Amino acid sequence: MKQNKTKKHSAIALFSGGLDSLLVVKYMEKLGYTIYPVYFATPYMPAQRALEAALDNGINLIVRDISSEHIEMMESPVYGFGKNLNPCIDCHGLMFRIAGEMLEELGADFIISGEVMGQRPMSQRKDALNMVAKLSGYKDLLVRPLSQKLLEDTLPITQGWVDKDDMLDISGRGRNRQLELAKELGIKNFPSPAGGCLLTDKGFSQRIKDLQSHNQFDERNLELLRFGRHFRLDDRAKLIVGRNMAENASLSELSEGLITLKAAEHIGPFAVLNSQDIAEDVLRLALDIFWYYHPKAPDEGKVLLYQPDGSSLEYQAKKTNRETVEKHMLNIQK
Ligand code: SF4
Repeated sequence: MKQNKTKKHSAIALFSGGLDSLLVVKYMEKLGYTIYPVYFATPYMPAQRALEAALDNGINLIVRDISSEHIEMMESPVYGFGKNLNPCIDCHGLMFRIAGEMLEELGADFIISGEVMGQRPMSQRKDALNMVAKLSGYKDLLVRPLSQKLLEDTLPITQGWVDKDDMLDISGRGRNRQLELAKELGIKNFPSPAGGCLLTDKGFSQRIKDLQSHNQFDERNLELLRFGRHFRLDDRAKLIVGRNMAENASLSELSEGLITLKAAEHIGPFAVLNSQDIAEDVLRLALDIFWYYHPKAPDEGKVLLYQPDGSSLEYQAKKTNRETVEKHMLNIQK
């Protein structure tokens, strides 16, 4: 690879934490560009994985929360959804748009990403890359260094900010060239390709559909989706029961302003009700499902219900049966 120290232009990089985004940042830096890697966080893509990949590879990452814009886009993506609830073309388009809006703030000239032509069936076909570019409103400022030799020239190329000869011509699903480049650039630690976005997960997508069909598709309810077992009790209320200590702690952190449940005299999970507007019979159902998850406790026991103001009420709960649990649990194939 040539090293060019004369280049002065700078770019914002869409950074996911995956290998391709690591490659593109390191590759462009090596060519002499100043790169601002940005991670766009949403409730379905927590920043942790990207932060770890950045830290492991000495990358200074900017994290920008785009939850509200992403939730709005999810209501009706122009190019629809993939196999699950992943609107990849619109999602990339949105990220590029926000990156474009950040150019002035960061004093950068153009935008780069690690997209590889033909790598993903939905979002990285050549026509899909064009759709993404068009949706973003910054079509002429996008450069995809790993595939740019195979793509239409954009302003950074025609203006000579980027030398096309420096760009690569990687395409398709194979990973060999990326792995070679990673070696060349000294990238040692990178996460596996799978496991980034929860919108590609079937169970998570079902939980989202439930929120959408009950008009509860908002940031708080989406945050809660990442933890615990979820039970749809009626049109207004859901019960969420932690599965382990880490989930109990996460649910507790997210429970401000919500009703929570805890066994009065036994060790067990933490639970949250996502609505304060709960009918007596629905609360009874919630308590009995909650008590089902205390396998070592007697069939009946005391549950403390904490109100958002911190006051508590004591209830008697009775373990419900498996059939009722399965009837209300989300993610079970019915
Ligand atoms: S997989 Fe998720 S984060 Fe990636 S483009 Fe698709 S919707 Fe967006």
